[in-house]
This record gives sequence, structure tokens and C-alpha cells, in this order.
Amino acid sequence: MAQNRKISYGYQIVGGVVTVNKDEESIVQGIYQMYADGLSYLSIATELTNQGIRYMPSKPEWNKNMIARMLQNKNYLGNEKYPCIIPEILYQQAQASMKTYTPTESSDIKKLKNKLVCDICGQHLKRRIKASGSERWYCPSSPSHISLKVTDGSIIKDISNLQKQFSYGQLNQVNCSSVLSIETIQLQNEIDALLTQTELQVEKIKETIMKLAALQYDLCANEYAMEDAKIQALGRRQKRIDAELLDQLIADIRINKNQITKAVMKSGRIFMKGENHG
Ligand SMILES: [Zn+2]
Repeated sequence: MAQNRKISYGYQIVGGVVTVNKDEESIVQGIYQMYADGLSYLSIATELTNQGIRYMPSKPEWNKNMIARMLQNKNYLGNEKYPCIIPEILYQQAQASMKTYTPTESSDIKKLKNKLVCDICGQHLKRRIKASGSERWYCPSSPSHISLKVTDGSIIKDISNLQKQFSYGQLNQVNCSSVLSIETIQLQNEIDALLTQTELQVEKIKETIMKLAALQYDLCANEYAMEDAKIQALGRRQKRIDAELLDQLIADIRINKNQITKAVMKSGRIFMKGENHG
């Protein structure tokens, strides 16, 4: 017996022509209806298996991949070869709910997800989609390691709070007084002037701060100088996460059970939400 169906579920070949298999047709329609009613792939598969319905004579079990494929099978809309089984409106309804079942990660989350680790065991956090359609982050070692409520939104909020703490003045200024040069003073003045403008030129500010940092780094050979300068640049961007700069600065973003989020910088320094860096 063939392991795979030669033709999509819901159809049969009679005399070389594809026709509707009436028994299977009602199952296909039932699947679309259950999905439109909010059931997940898995619960639909379980339902069909429990009802003793077979995908193939040799396959008594349904899995969520079969359901997913059927919900995306355009042949059910009807075409030259296949008669219509699913009305356009029901098909579109399924496509629309599919979007809510597989929410895509925001670009910020995409850029930073490799940094997200469990504060207890150091494992990288994993993301899953719940049957309700919302996402959850969890520690693969143990569900007790982090709070159950870690979502994309809560992570972004925590990182944004961390970023706010990187604001100017909360860090020790890079102290290069002994080796101040005309050039560093000019750059510092330039930064100050840029910051007083009503329309902040963020990229320009960033660039100037980097230039100053590079200079100070050379002058002081201070291992934190470059990092501090970047952190200060971050602090000025209060509203939005700068995933790119965070990525350059941070080695790990550690999340624990109480959702106290810590940023472990590449230099080894640690910043925590709700605490000033000492
Ligand atoms: Zn863990």
C-alpha cells in the first residue's frame, strides 16, 4: 500500500477524472469549519483521530502537519483539475486566522533573541506558540526557571527599560581629563550642540559619540570607554529599542522567574532593571 495519497484528501479519481469523494469532502469542510471556530491544528487532528476518521486506510492517526497542509491547499477552491470543495470565503477565513496562530517575531526580537538566556541555568530561551495563538518564551531546562508570562511584548518592555537606564548621567563619565586633547573637547562640544537641537539627529549624534569614544579609547586605553560611549548613545534613544547597538554591546540578556532582566555587557559588567550601575 502506498504511504502517501496520490491525490489530495477529499478527492478521488474515477475513469481518469478527479471527482469529489463525498465522505472526505464533508471532513475537509469540517476541518475548515473547526479552524474558523478557533481550534488549533493539534486539537483538530486529535478530534479526527478520536472520531476514528482515517486520512488513509493505513493511517489511523492525524497530525497537525496534515491539518496545516489541508488548510493551505488551494485545490479545494476548485480549478481546471479539481472541483471546488471549500467556498472562497471559508478559505480566506482560514488564511486570516492562520496569521494569528503563527505570529511573526518583530524585527527587534529577531535581532536580540540569540541573547535571551535563562538566569538560572544559562540555557537559551525558546519561543513557542500556544494554542490560543499567543507566543511564550520558556527555558528548555525547566518550566520553573522563568515566569510563565514572558512574551515578545514583555521582553521588549524590559529591554526598553534597561535601555532607559543607560541614560546619560547614570554612568560614570569616561574620565580622560589627564589626556584631554583639543580634538576631544571639540567633539564633546559638537555632541552637546547636537543634543540641544529640537530635531535630534540620532545617527549624527551616534556617529559623533563613536568618534569621541574611539579617540578616548586610544587616549585612555580604557576598556570601558568605548562601551560607555555606546551606552550613552543608547541612553539618548529613550523611545525605541536600538536593537543593532544593543546587539553590539550586550553578550547576554538574562531573564529570571521574577522577570528581573539583566544585561550582561560584553565587557562583563552587568546592568539590571531597577538598579543604577554602581
Ligand atoms: Zn533555565
